[in-house]
Amino acid sequence: MTGSVDVADLIRQSREGRARAVARLISLVEDASPVLREVSAEVAPLTGHARVVGITGPPGVGKSTATSAVVRALRQQGNRVGVLAIDPSSPFTGGALLGDRIRMQDHALDTGVFIRSMATRGRLGGVAWATPPAIRVLDGVGFDVVLVETVGVGQSEVEIAGLADVTVVLLAPGMGDGVQAAKAGILEIGDVFVVNKADREGAQAAVRDLRQMISLGTPREARAYEEPARWRPPVLTTVASTGQGVDELLDTLERYQQWAEGSGELRGRRLRRAQREIETIAMTALRERMGDLTDGRRLDELAAAVVDGRLDPYGAADEMLAALAASSRSSDPPA
Ligand code: GDP
Repeated sequence: MTGSVDVADLIRQSREGRARAVARLISLVEDASPVLREVSAEVAPLTGHARVVGITGPPGVGKSTATSAVVRALRQQGNRVGVLAIDPSSPFTGGALLGDRIRMQDHALDTGVFIRSMATRGRLGGVAWATPPAIRVLDGVGFDVVLVETVGVGQSEVEIAGLADVTVVLLAPGMGDGVQAAKAGILEIGDVFVVNKADREGAQAAVRDLRQMISLGTPREARAYEEPARWRPPVLTTVASTGQGVDELLDTLERYQQWAEGSGELRGRRLRRAQREIETIAMTALRERMGDLTDGRRLDELAAAVVDGRLDPYGAADEMLAALAASSRSSDPPA
């Protein structure tokens, strides 16, 4: 136990399905609370069970409607489902909470569903930093599926979606969505493409365009030999507002999962997700220690030496690293 937070109890309550406890844990992640280290250690042995599904696409294509429909279908199969909604256009909790209320309406009374919009709270790295540990927490407290919904407009949102076990790219007919998607790098990260609003005119044309763009993106050799080991991203259609096509989407995700397990792709992605987490934590610690080093005076001195031409930046960085190593040795407990 650290301070007033009983981490073990929060985790126990979260595993029992208490939404308030889960929300508290996610807040600890968002706030980069000092307690997070303990949370991380406690959930570590409990993780590895959840399937992480990224859902991304431009604004207005029906992501929250589709997410809601997918949640409903997953619940019918008996899964506990966690949703992390990441919207870079609403960095403050006020906006996030409004979004949560709208999303929650459909699942308000269901304790098997947890929905949360991630807020950045101005922290360096923002949601890109907080998403992997939030996924880990939801996994550890027993959610079977974690849906990570992002607006695929910025590079970091695309990256977040790319950290999932499988990424679903949602588009809608018209408005040159395809072009927009290509620009944002969305085509490269999609494992499954969905043209939503299939009740609208132009859906079949959008499916054709997408299929063509995907095959253009496939390397010539792969097309020539049609390696059986390759996953060829399918293009499905849905009407999220009625739920049409959602069962097919779940079947496809199941098929993907089996392929990804067999081919080693799943393990590869999880390794990349873990690498990124480790790197972020280490870099953050390093920055903090650089700031701590005699209250940042060492960095100020080195910067002055570089500006005055007494040192070059590489030499200065070497000195900084040497100073950090010396300070970590001196702070080690005596042997
Ligand atoms: P998001 O911004 O991508 O999360 O999109 P929303 O889920 O908020 O949906 C945007 C609008 O499209 C809403 O008015 C939805 O009701 C509507 N919508 C969502 N799915 C469909 C669909 O399959 N068909 C039609 N006609 N409208 C849809």
